[in-house]
Amino acid sequence: MGPYSSILTKQQSFFRTEKTKNLTYRIDALEKLRSKIKANEQPLMDALRADLNKSEFDAYTTEIMIVLEEIKFAINHLQSWAKPRKVKTPITHIGSKSYIYPEPYGVTLIIAPWNYPFQLAVAPLIGAIAAGNCAVIKPSELTPTTSEVFAKLISEIYPEEYITVVQGGVETSQALLEEKFDYIFFTGSVSVGKVIMGAAAKNLTPVTLELGGKSPCIVHEDANLKLAAKRIAWGKFVNAGQTCVAPDYLYLHKSIKAPFLQFFQEAIKDLYGEALENRNFTRIVSEKHFQRLSSFLDNGKLFIGGNTNKKRLQIEPTVLTEITWEHPVMQDEIFGPILPVLEYESIDDVIKGIENHPKPLALYLFSEGESIQKKVLNQVSFGGGCLNDTVYHLGSPHLPFGGVGTSGIGSYHGKGSFYTFSHEKSILKQTTKFDLPFRYPNVKDGLTKI
Ligand code: NAD
Repeated sequence: MGPYSSILTKQQSFFRTEKTKNLTYRIDALEKLRSKIKANEQPLMDALRADLNKSEFDAYTTEIMIVLEEIKFAINHLQSWAKPRKVKTPITHIGSKSYIYPEPYGVTLIIAPWNYPFQLAVAPLIGAIAAGNCAVIKPSELTPTTSEVFAKLISEIYPEEYITVVQGGVETSQALLEEKFDYIFFTGSVSVGKVIMGAAAKNLTPVTLELGGKSPCIVHEDANLKLAAKRIAWGKFVNAGQTCVAPDYLYLHKSIKAPFLQFFQEAIKDLYGEALENRNFTRIVSEKHFQRLSSFLDNGKLFIGGNTNKKRLQIEPTVLTEITWEHPVMQDEIFGPILPVLEYESIDDVIKGIENHPKPLALYLFSEGESIQKKVLNQVSFGGGCLNDTVYHLGSPHLPFGGVGTSGIGSYHGKGSFYTFSHEKSILKQTTKFDLPFRYPNVKDGLTKI
């Protein structure tokens, strides 16, 4: 018996009561979540300020609003998602009908990271509830204020046997992984993703792994440079670069390097001014990450920024040029406000460079040319991304969001969240009016009378 066995037993018994499968129950649970979040926007924004110095604007748009939209979308579509779907039946199965019944897995575990500590705990929960599951959520220990507010909100609207939050760090997470859950949804780093999958394998528990990696951003010679600069600056420096789908590094066509970087410098100024004096610029989550990021500042040539405030754990938007794949900053996901720049002459070299490394979670291409767009989309494998924008794809409930290769397994958002947390049970409903003889050995007659 582990420390969390009793929670699991309670949730398993509750799941067996069938209450969570009832559609009205699920919609009511989503409505409760929506009202609770709406009534607690200020405490949530205050907590995100305390943990990461997130501005109210960022806290609202990138955490609260995203989940409110997801809840609305799920409530509006749940009835049609949850219905058994009739599908075609082949001629060989004549007389029968075929259906797919989505069913909840049962008791699920959601483990969340610190970078969007509220959004990344709630968004999967919406899918778990919509699909009719129970859930245990383990938020990040690195954002304790947000995790505390989140745990309080959840305990005020749901009984523990339905949905509960367990707070704690690595040991808590590992103790939870000792239990036999019916599904595990993990968001975090690639290395911990491997630990999660190893633990899940012991019980053959299915998983979704939302991981990370180095997401390239390519600016081709025919791009709208000014707009590209603004959209890349926002996608990279929102949340101080601590975004799983932030452009990790830039691939700039040699011919537009100078004008692009000029626009980029202006875009950063427009968005953040003097970032270290801007009370709304997000800080780095911990001293350890601050040190790790600071060690990259001498890579290549410092082109923009480079200043830090150690006391407040802030690093200003920084651009490094004259970078090669050998620099330390190019070895792992950066996850901070530092943007290294590689240059290229041929798009084939870009494709080769990306393909020599693990499959990215996101890829962004700025180009007006359809043939370049097609070439990159056809040749390079990556989780998802945008043409002529950054990060925005993750806000659409119609686009399943997830990685491929080491950047992740599975996807969610919108309908994708419902299916992620559902098993699709295939059912063939056979007729008893006649029996086809061909399937049986030694039968020569036509239709057999029953
Ligand atoms: P992390 O992997 O260190 O931690 C994530 C969660 O796992 C936390 O709740 C933590 O307590 C737990 N954990 C840590 N070590 C563990 C272990 N050994 N065993 C069991 N549980 C453990 O990730 P992080 O630093 O919180 O987040 C940053 C990473 O998450 C980045 O790599 C980023 O790209 C990725 N990320 C991915 C997405 C996505 O949607 N794909 C979103 C946000 C962040």
